[in-house]
Amino acid sequence: CGIVGYIGHRGCQDILVEGLKKLEYRGYDSAGIAVFTESGLEIKKSKGRLAILEDKLKGEPLTGSVGIGHTRWATHGKPSDVNSHPHTDNSAKFSVVHNGIIENYLDLKAELTAKGHVFLSETDTEVISHLVADEYKGNIVEAVQQAVKRMRGAFALGVLTEYEPEKLVAVRFASPLVIGVGEGENFIGSDIPAILEHTRNVYILDDGEMAILTREGVELLSIDGKHISKEIFHVDWDL
Ligand code: GLU
Repeated sequence: CGIVGYIGHRGCQDILVEGLKKLEYRGYDSAGIAVFTESGLEIKKSKGRLAILEDKLKGEPLTGSVGIGHTRWATHGKPSDVNSHPHTDNSAKFSVVHNGIIENYLDLKAELTAKGHVFLSETDTEVISHLVADEYKGNIVEAVQQAVKRMRGAFALGVLTEYEPEKLVAVRFASPLVIGVGEGENFIGSDIPAILEHTRNVYILDDGEMAILTREGVELLSIDGKHISKEIFHVDWDL
């Protein structure tokens, strides 16, 4: 029920976990993060409190400066380690966090299964990671756009791929998502408190908008690929 993401120059594990803590008020039953480490896209996730995830990370920290995190409020599939986000595809090259519900996930799952995709979880979300992988032809922004066109429901998404580790793609459709603009680093969050410690400059995405974050900047697009210019919202309140 909460999303955070970071792309920058600092180690992101603690930024993600602390951001998720700020979203605890939204309620959750599981938590997880995915980080680009030296050995690729690595995921740690578990059912239960954030403290359980933190314990796992204490033993085996994820070192890297690009990542996404999630607290889950289960809608499809019971709370479990496997059903926790981030989800991935069979190549393990893509990683997705999702808030919301994909209403047509059973149809998409059947179609992807027929194409050879093997699903590990009971969630609607896992369909998104397989769909993005299936649509990927060398451009993650286009793959996400194609995937989103096929999804019905409500979603806020954070997407990473090992093929383009300098990009974090975010989408909003009927679930809240904000983009935090920093210096040499940028953020996504379900809500401003998740990122307020790091920046007061925020884009508030509207439905049908997506953001492509790199370390250096943020580009806003509509789902059909048109550039959007939007005023930065300056947060003048404190937590
Ligand atoms: N529908 C997804 C799931 O059950 C996401 C739930 C959420 O918003 O946390 O895994």
